Amino acid sequence: MVTNRSILRRVDESGVFVLLVRLFLGGLFVWMGMSKIAHPDAFLKQVHLYEMLPESPAYFLNATALFLPWLEVVCGVALILGIATRGAALAVGGMLCVFTPAILLRALAIRAAEGTPFMEISFDCGCGSGVVIIWTKLLKNSGLALLSLVVLLARSRRFTLAMLLDRRRAVARYCRRCGFPVGSASSPFFCSSCSKPEPVADATSPVYGASNQPAPDASL
Ligand SMILES: [Zn+2]
Repeated sequence: MVTNRSILRRVDESGVFVLLVRLFLGGLFVWMGMSKIAHPDAFLKQVHLYEMLPESPAYFLNATALFLPWLEVVCGVALILGIATRGAALAVGGMLCVFTPAILLRALAIRAAEGTPFMEISFDCGCGSGVVIIWTKLLKNSGLALLSLVVLLARSRRFTLAMLLDRRRAVARYCRRCGFPVGSASSPFFCSSCSKPEPVADATSPVYGASNQPAPDASL
């Protein structure tokens, strides 16, 4: 368990994995939002087809069709730049948690009405990619929701605009080495883990020793 945790921490500290996830998820949401903004009437029709919102006043449907694509674009840009990253990941995950069950319900309604086998049901779900096989769409959306969870849980702010702006501060909010929140660490620039004194070249050190041999008296 200790090994798993330290591997996860090292992956988080490097910031590379979450950067790739941010770029992918952010790029996808910018693209999906832009394709809806380019065809507002088509998207309004899609929102209509879900029958989730009241028909009258028409204001609800129109406002949703107008607002939602921009929310996607703003969240996507925030993820790419790395500003308000967790808020953007939460919003993206929240949207996926609303869209995905809605798509499932619509597919189930089609199956009930037309008797189409579930695996063969396809329609334009309104995501911006046209007509799709619905079970693959549900799978993809679940994967995207997991990726938004990765961004939400990642602690490192490396490769983000937030971290870049943080460099101008006299006291860092994010550790200058690993990008984790500094919190109440003793050092003004490093988190409590990174502000530990540099390990001296000491093969007997139980934590930093270069040797892979377990300590001879390791007790569980
Ligand atoms: Zn650190």
